[in-house]
Amino acid sequence: MAGLTLDHITKTFTDSRKDVIAVNDVSIDIADGEFLVLVGPSGCGKTTILRMVAGLESLTSGEIRLDGDVINDESPKNRKIAMVFQNYALYPHMTVRENMRFGLEESTNSSDTEIERKVRETAELLDISELLDRKPKELSGGQQQRVALGRAIVRDPAVFLLDEPLSNLDAKLRAHMRTELQRIQEELHVTAVFVTHDQTEAMTMGDRIAVLNDGELQQIGTPLECYHTPANQFVAEFIGSPSMNFFELEVQGSRLISMTANGRFEYPISEETRDAIGDRATVVLGIRPEDIIVSEDRGGEHTFEAVVDVVEPMGNENIVYLTFDSDTMSPDTFIAAVDGFKQISAGEPVIVQMPEDDISIFDAK
Ligand code: ADP
Ligand code: MG
Repeated sequence: MAGLTLDHITKTFTDSRKDVIAVNDVSIDIADGEFLVLVGPSGCGKTTILRMVAGLESLTSGEIRLDGDVINDESPKNRKIAMVFQNYALYPHMTVRENMRFGLEESTNSSDTEIERKVRETAELLDISELLDRKPKELSGGQQQRVALGRAIVRDPAVFLLDEPLSNLDAKLRAHMRTELQRIQEELHVTAVFVTHDQTEAMTMGDRIAVLNDGELQQIGTPLECYHTPANQFVAEFIGSPSMNFFELEVQGSRLISMTANGRFEYPISEETRDAIGDRATVVLGIRPEDIIVSEDRGGEHTFEAVVDVVEPMGNENIVYLTFDSDTMSPDTFIAAVDGFKQISAGEPVIVQMPEDDISIFDAK
């Protein structure tokens, strides 16, 4: 059993000139057996968080608890935590078996037979039994990745930390390993924190995902919660592809008005939306590409004239780039995802509908 708690953890690196706040007051509760994905752009503090949990980096402030016990001052090898790195970090001169066994004798007090049994079991779980006598350079990238995992698994950790472990694999193998990792994590019933900068990977793998930006936690929730009810514009933009559309609008009574679309975009709002906006003078309206309806019919609620700028046929769907005004270089270019069978071409005038049920309102930046 291993619940992991990050309680207001902060890490400041002091450079010769300035302080870098790599992780800023992050609190996350990870349940026993949970698969949590930590996702965010490069440099947002993901690796630093894992390194603090593993004991490779001290905390500037805050507390890390494993099953309620504070582990801030525990040495890395007493933490029951194993970390798997992006670059595998296997010992090149050792065989797979030696890589997996390395250091186990001292750290576990297990007998040689016990260790050998554990190595064999793990190799079986990972489907690398026939590779045990090979050296890392005789393995493919995917096989090396499995060995790196195996080296962590044989240690029987309570918590698994995985730092972008799939990013060196090609797309097909990466997709396969996503499923494999989930199977293994479930089979071992181990708590796992998986780091990635790839939102697709986060969406498909996490029980819950924690979205980070600039050292700060933006939102934590199930993938669908983060997708459908993003906490802020950063999450809305980061999660989902193509990205959500955003329009910065002025609030005028019961309408939202674009300052850039030459009067072509006025969005009437309900009492409910009005209340949610409060006393903000400008807001950002967000809507996902698949929630925009493109048609030729006029007159419905929340419909607007627009012009098709570019169409990208993807087979199952068309990604349609639209503007409200073909005469200007409109900053209000937006994207709709429509059915692949729909005939639609560049230059065509269309009617777009943006149902109020599907919009999100964010603070203007
Ligand atoms: P990520 O893994 O999300 O890409 P990191 O945790 O590696 O991000 O880095 C977060 C921030 O902390 C970055 O600005 C990075 O430059 C900085 N940083 C990381 N490690 C150090 C260090 N040892 N010394 C100084 N700055 C560091
Ligand atoms: Mg990193």
